[in-house]
Amino acid sequence: MAAGISVAQCSRCPKPAILHQEYSGQHYCGQHLGQSIRKRFSKELRNTLVLPKDAHHSDGRPFRILACISGGKDSAVLLDLLVDILGKRRDVEIIAGCVDEGIDGYRAPSLECARQLAESLSIEFVTMSYEEMGYERMDEVVLRMPGIGAQHSEAKGLMPCSYCGVFRRQSLNAMAEKVNADVMALGHNLDDMAQSILMNLQKGEIERSVRLAPHTDAPIEGLAPRIVPLRWVPEQEIHAHAIAKGLPIHHGECPHAPGAMRQQSRSIVAALEAQTPGARHGLLHALEQIRELHRAANPDPHAEVTKCEECGEITSRQICQSCTMKRWLIESHSR
Ligand code: SF4
Ligand SMILES: [Zn+2]
Ligand SMILES: [Zn+2]
Repeated sequence: MAAGISVAQCSRCPKPAILHQEYSGQHYCGQHLGQSIRKRFSKELRNTLVLPKDAHHSDGRPFRILACISGGKDSAVLLDLLVDILGKRRDVEIIAGCVDEGIDGYRAPSLECARQLAESLSIEFVTMSYEEMGYERMDEVVLRMPGIGAQHSEAKGLMPCSYCGVFRRQSLNAMAEKVNADVMALGHNLDDMAQSILMNLQKGEIERSVRLAPHTDAPIEGLAPRIVPLRWVPEQEIHAHAIAKGLPIHHGECPHAPGAMRQQSRSIVAALEAQTPGARHGLLHALEQIRELHRAANPDPHAEVTKCEECGEITSRQICQSCTMKRWLIESHSR
């Protein structure tokens, strides 16, 4: 080793550390980082997914979890840990599913990583594409966006991710319905959560934050509730762990991401965390408190919920956003 350069030692063993947790002062080697992530994951899983000793349905079907994977690091760690923790239970079945948005150069290789991971864990793998859902491929949506924006004031200034987020949400719900899932597990990490909370606050949308997953304590009839067992684990730790474990992950960025509000929020959250280590945890704790207050003030969380006149999905409007966007796309086709 070059003089003057020293590698920190793991706080739990003599091995060299691969990660420094600024907010706690701890250093971790690969093995102890893995243990620490597994512990936080299990805790959140226990809190949000309360399974009876025998979780079989009355007709003998096992309890089914749809792990929504994307080929990226977060969902890879999600699936790996779900299999590690629940894989041996005969009364629980894990299925992996990936949404295909139709984004050239990005989705094909990441879908392959997702498939490989599922195969290596002997987990059934399913997909759902935007075309199967009756939307267009995202690459096509992006081409039509200027025309749609010129036609509908509501669509003016929308970014690709505004469409994609709505379409993905519906596609995940459809996939869960297709495989008859009892619960959906998503790979959102602490950074994702902090960014979403901040973005919603910025837009004055507390309700939206309150509705962020996990949903198991207030499930909506007919929709598989979502759990997010990695939501307390920072992105960097998940990344380091995925690499240390050698999980197959895709590193590419979506070509439509630049300019999205999340990009801006990402750098703000990173700056906040650098200034005040622990800020991300603080934002998520704040959300939990807001949720409690909101719950106390609104004992019936779904009082506002209605069904879309067109597709029957749960929505707060007459026609859900996904059906509205679908209409715009069809119209843009005929022009
Ligand atoms: S970055 Fe935006 S457009 Fe690309 S996959 Fe994600 S949500 Fe969709
Ligand atoms: Zn160690
Ligand atoms: Zn609808």
